[in-house]
Amino acid sequence: MAKKQFKAESKRLLEMMINSIYSKREVFLRELISNASDAIDKLYYKVLTDESLSFDKDSYYIKITANKENRMLTITDTGIGMTKEELENNLGVIAKSGSLAFKNENEIKDGHAIIGQFGVGFYAAFMVADVVTVVSKALGSDEAYKWESKGADGYTIAPTSKDTVGTEITLTIKENTEDESYDEYLEEYQLKSIIKKYSDFIRYPIKMDVTES
Ligand code: ADP
Ligand code: MG
Repeated sequence: MAKKQFKAESKRLLEMMINSIYSKREVFLRELISNASDAIDKLYYKVLTDESLSFDKDSYYIKITANKENRMLTITDTGIGMTKEELENNLGVIAKSGSLAFKNENEIKDGHAIIGQFGVGFYAAFMVADVVTVVSKALGSDEAYKWESKGADGYTIAPTSKDTVGTEITLTIKENTEDESYDEYLEEYQLKSIIKKYSDFIRYPIKMDVTES
């Protein structure tokens, strides 16, 4: 008998994932930082295997910017970036890991630092954000694209401009409710302690810039 494929109610699946995979909200930052680190690792790998590219160690970093007045938290990386198709495939398909695919395509075995494999970590951002905006420019591309989503309702992709290769992810941090406070995700001290707790092993510098207004 012909085997049938399971279908999934993707909205509900995403909702479930955002609300129940992680026991603590603060791990969203670990997930976004690990993706940023993976993106820089991929760029590094490309440089090692392509003589026309060069790697200036000082220009590779992850930057966390918080603006309390706008409630915006931004994670910027100088990694490999994403094309329009990669934004579509990696951020628009639940449980699809571009990082796992990269390891397989390049036959990168154990011992390499690329962390991603399950293709779900990114969505952790929706535990703390109402809106997630990703602006990315891929290595070797002249075009940049903006991916934006409020969560389960879906996402949009549109052309935008960005000078440098890499990715900038902006979270519009949720307003506090009677039961929950989200303000800590805009506080320099708290952000530093979350980074220290979960991302101490990251091999690229993590810079921070917090503005009150
Ligand atoms: P995983 O890291 O387990 O692969 P994620 O849900 O965290 O899953 O991310 C999905 C995919 O989106 C990644 O595999 C990668 O291809 C892509 N991605 C996410 N963040 C970035 C980023 N900052 N730069 C480049 N690609 C990214
Ligand atoms: Mg990840």
